[in-house]
Amino acid sequence: MSSKLTVENILHELVKIPSPYPFENQIVEWIANFIKERSFTIHKIPVEDRFCLVAKRGSGKSLLLFGHLDTVPIQGVEDETPHQPEGRNKIAEHAKTLGWFQDPFIPLIKKGRMYGNGAVDMKAGVASILATAISLPEEWFKTNELILAFSVDEEFVDKGMYQLLQTDLIRHAKGCICPEIADISEVVEMGETPDVGTILLGRRGRIAIEVLVKGKAAHAATPKAGINAIELATTMINHVMKSVESGELPLGKHEILPEASITPLKIHAGTSSLSVPDSCLVEFDRHLVPPETPESVLKQMEECIKQVLKPSEFEIRKTNRPTPFLLPFVTSKDSDIAKVTISTLESLGYTVKISGGNSVADENMLSSSDYKHPILHAIPTIVLGCKGGNYHKENEWVDLRSLEKHYQALLKICENW
Ligand SMILES: [Zn+2]
Repeated sequence: MSSKLTVENILHELVKIPSPYPFENQIVEWIANFIKERSFTIHKIPVEDRFCLVAKRGSGKSLLLFGHLDTVPIQGVEDETPHQPEGRNKIAEHAKTLGWFQDPFIPLIKKGRMYGNGAVDMKAGVASILATAISLPEEWFKTNELILAFSVDEEFVDKGMYQLLQTDLIRHAKGCICPEIADISEVVEMGETPDVGTILLGRRGRIAIEVLVKGKAAHAATPKAGINAIELATTMINHVMKSVESGELPLGKHEILPEASITPLKIHAGTSSLSVPDSCLVEFDRHLVPPETPESVLKQMEECIKQVLKPSEFEIRKTNRPTPFLLPFVTSKDSDIAKVTISTLESLGYTVKISGGNSVADENMLSSSDYKHPILHAIPTIVLGCKGGNYHKENEWVDLRSLEKHYQALLKICENW
C-alpha cells in the first residue's frame, strides 16, 4: 500500500461515512468505487432500496472475506437520517447527551484508540478486508479467487445476508474469514473484544419464542368471575425460569460454544376497559447450541409449560420474522480455513485461543448447515476480530495497534491460503 493508504486511514474514511441501518447506501457506493479501481468486478444485490456488495478478482481456490457495513443507530434518534444536515445535527446533539465525546461520525483518535460509531463493530474489520484486498500481490490472483462480500441490515434482521444467499455469487467459496467482533464470554462483561489471536470457530444460534396465555374476561370488579391471563403468565414465566435453574429444563452445552440461554424479552397484556385480561403474550429469547434445534427447544418449552398450564390455556410458536432466525454454526478445526488461520497466527507468534461467539451475526446464516436451499451455503467460516470496546453504545472504540496487527495477520492468512 502507498504510505498514505494505511488500514487506519481506510477506517478513518469508513467511520466518516455514517451507515446506521437503513442508511447504508453511501458507504456501499464508497466501497464499490474504492474496489472497482483495483480490478475487482462489482455486483450489487438489491435489498429493498439498499444494496449488498460482492467484489471478485482472480481465479482458482476461492476465499471469501465478509463484513457487514451497517452500524447500530444512535439510540433515541433512530429515524433521523445522518445524510441530511438537519438529521445529522440532531444525531450529533443527542449523542452528546448519551455521553459521546463528540459527533459519533467524526473519528476521534486518542491514546492509540479510534472512537466512532461502528469503529469496532465492524468498520475496523471492513478496513482490514479492504487493505488486504489491495495489498495482495498480482501473482496471488493467478491461482486464487478473492471474493469480498459486504451486507447491510445485519444489526436489524439480516435482510442483506438473506438476499445475498439467494444468489449464486458466493456459493462456491471454499472458506470465509469474517473480521466481526469476537464476543466471547470472558470479555463480553467488560464490554471489550479480545486482541488478534482469539478466533471464533462458531456462534450460538437463537430463536424467539412466543407464548400466548389464554384466560377468561370478566369485569375487573369481580375478578373471580374470570381467569386473569396475566396471573397465569406470571406462573408460567416463574415455572420456566425455576426449571432452568433446577436443571429440569436443561440448556444445551457445547465443547466450543457458550452454554445455551433463555430469558423473557417482552410481555403484552391488558385492554383499555376495566376488564380482567383474557390473554397475555410473552416472548422469550432462546439462544441455542447444537444439537439443539428450533424444533427441539420449542418442544422442550411446551412440555415444561404443560406442567403448570392446561393445553387449552396456551399456544406456543416461533415469533414471526421477515427473515429466518440465525441458527448456530460450528466450523471444523480440520477445515482448510481453520488450519490456514491457526497455522498462520502461530507462525506470527500468536498463542491461538479457540472460542465460540455468544451472540448471533450474519455469518450464522452464511455458515450454518441447518438451512435449506437456496439459503444453505454452509461455508466454513472463522471469525477473527481485533481489540475494541463499547460496541452498541457510546464511545465505541478500536485499538489502532490491534487493527494494524489484524490487517497484517489477515494478509498473511490470505497469502497462505
Ligand atoms: Zn457486527
